Amino acid sequence: MDGRVSFLCPKVSNQAGILYVVATPIGNLDDLSPRAARVLGEVDLIAAEDTRHSRRLLGHIGVSKPMLALHEHNESAAAERVLAALRGGGDVALVSDAGTPLISDPGFPLVRACRAHGLRVSPIPGPCALVAALSVSGLPTDHFRFEGFPPRSSAARRSRFEMLVDDPATLVFYESSHRVLDSLADMAGVFGATRPAALARELTKRYETILHGTLGELAARLAADPDQQRGEFVLVVAGCPAAAGDEALPEEVRRLLAVLMAELPLKQAAAIAAAWSGLKKNLLYKTMLAMQEDEQSD
Ligand code: SAM
Repeated sequence: MDGRVSFLCPKVSNQAGILYVVATPIGNLDDLSPRAARVLGEVDLIAAEDTRHSRRLLGHIGVSKPMLALHEHNESAAAERVLAALRGGGDVALVSDAGTPLISDPGFPLVRACRAHGLRVSPIPGPCALVAALSVSGLPTDHFRFEGFPPRSSAARRSRFEMLVDDPATLVFYESSHRVLDSLADMAGVFGATRPAALARELTKRYETILHGTLGELAARLAADPDQQRGEFVLVVAGCPAAAGDEALPEEVRRLLAVLMAELPLKQAAAIAAAWSGLKKNLLYKTMLAMQEDEQSD
């Protein structure tokens, strides 16, 4: 197999193989990149989350390869087999059912093991639902926090959301059709019904829908229309509105912040300003972040 994927990563004889982490479509098969198709056609082995599912994709591009199941219930054992194949000089592609492996999908133990053993890992980038949803959400993308799937039980979910309530970064969640309504209701309860959000459903597929509105509006919209509860979802939620506290700050505090942040790290500046003004450190810190962003965008 040496040299067969040389257009990607040059390899010389007797070297270990390369693990390619290959992104596959999240709905629309045309989103498989030509490079991903080439790699899948040239590796010696494909490790797939669900071999039956991935065989359909391979059939679509006319590829037939030895496959190995690597899913959350057998990751360690399957990773050992992949390592053995790589050590023997074979190249391996890792794919999941959809999108980018390791992003709320199996593969982390394998990649970590490859790194630990000095084996080469190379990404073949492509579709990822979180990035696709974020890019069309209309919410800030300069800082975001990917949270994967919220916990299943409402109590655990709400306490997870409580931990995020002050986070100024845009929040991104995956959710299934079974829980999207409950998750939205809990988000509206914890983050506030007026927090802006976007709900990306069935991206790249026939019924792709991107809804914008407040959490309260989105929850009501979905509750009223069972069709909108079908499919796969990414929930994008605006970060904590630091600007609200910011506006309420007295001008003299803002002037002090401007002076301190010019001279000191923000954390230190926030601590000094909090001691002087009696205001919360967190609020002052966020205000300075917002001021910095305003300066940069001017
Ligand atoms: N690795 C994948 C990726 O790169 O996006 C994510 C896998 S995770 C097991 C599956 C979840 O991703 C779904 O439950 C849904 O939240 C989100 N997702 C995947 N495809 C999607 C799509 N076409 N539209 C909206 N969300 C999608």
